[in-house]
Amino acid sequence: MKGFAMKKIGEIGWIEKERPKCGPTDAIIRPLALSPCTSDVHTVWEGAIGEREDMILGHEGCGVVEEVGEMVKDFKPGDRVMVAAITPDWNSLEAQAGFAMHSGGMLAGWKFSNFKDGMFGDYFHVNDADGNLALIPEGVTIEEACMLSDMVPTGFHGVELADVQFGDTVLVVGIGPVGLMAVAGANLRGASRIIAVGTRPICREVAKKYGATDFIGYKDGSIDEQVLALTNGQGVDKAIIAGGGVETMEPVVKCLKPGGKIGNVNYLGKGTYINIPRVEWGVGMGHKQILGGLMPGGRLRLEKLARLIQCGKLDVTHLLTHKFYGFDKVEDALLLMKEKPKDLIKPVVILEKE
Ligand code: NAD
Ligand code: ZN
Repeated sequence: MKGFAMKKIGEIGWIEKERPKCGPTDAIIRPLALSPCTSDVHTVWEGAIGEREDMILGHEGCGVVEEVGEMVKDFKPGDRVMVAAITPDWNSLEAQAGFAMHSGGMLAGWKFSNFKDGMFGDYFHVNDADGNLALIPEGVTIEEACMLSDMVPTGFHGVELADVQFGDTVLVVGIGPVGLMAVAGANLRGASRIIAVGTRPICREVAKKYGATDFIGYKDGSIDEQVLALTNGQGVDKAIIAGGGVETMEPVVKCLKPGGKIGNVNYLGKGTYINIPRVEWGVGMGHKQILGGLMPGGRLRLEKLARLIQCGKLDVTHLLTHKFYGFDKVEDALLLMKEKPKDLIKPVVILEKE
């Protein structure tokens, strides 16, 4: 079969590979729609997860079930399914402890385009099919289903980690697609004021649609000073970090109220340490919590998040700024992601013919 791969760090291209084999609890999927991710760019051009040879990229997509193992109970060939970027082993001890995304070791629930071939192939493999697939429900398009693989669940996980409550003033740092979904999630959870940190006009426009009430630019001065100025020196109740580098933690701690919570879903690719400012962290006694997490995967979550789209409570189409048609366009979509033109939020590649 054909696949679009990372040949080595800094090099991409089309390769031929054997079609993946289906184990007793697995499924083999033929993609219907695919979306490249910022993480694919980190993986290929920054060598974020180390060297990989001829590894098929991609972890955002949906498709049709081609084959299932003999122990799979709930899915059959022909089913149209969503798949999350993170596909845990639901029988693992980590899953039993409530952290399925770390099944098999820290971050090891992230298998696609990390430990095994990703979705940008004629076919891709899904472990633990009953736990990791979900039917695409009526009213959800294949391009919307792609946003349920990673962008929605990650942005919303930031909101969960920050524990957003009714009336909270929430800061969202970074309004790429993940940050935009954090804005939408905070809004659904009842945040009052949502202060978004980001500069691109298209991202601001979409953030506003999702519920952002105020904007600041990280290029216009320090984040903490701008937030404190906007909030009469009070700061924010909760914060979600979905952009920038290790340097974003310090200003966010500084403008967080005592008892505040930070949910980081940002991938911190560089630097050895993250600075936590001693005084503003209440000299160790400020009850300011910092949690960072990989998104949870799984069928239940996919089904629940899809219901938000079905019920008209979440519109992910604002994210889909660029559409491509045909499998061979995966390459253009990924290169666009690397280039990141000003009007891009998220590209999607539609494989299914009308
Ligand atoms: P993105 O690159 O499209 O968006 C990040 C945005 O942050 C960009 O618009 C960028 O201009 C902006 N930014 C840069 N520096 C900033 C700063 N100092 N302050 C505020 N904003 C700044 O990426 P994305 O797809 O939205 O993903 C966001 C992050 O989430 C990435 O690091 C990605 O790797 C990570 N991620 C994590 C998970 C997870 O499971 N935790 C899953 C998917 C993606
Ligand atoms: Zn992704």
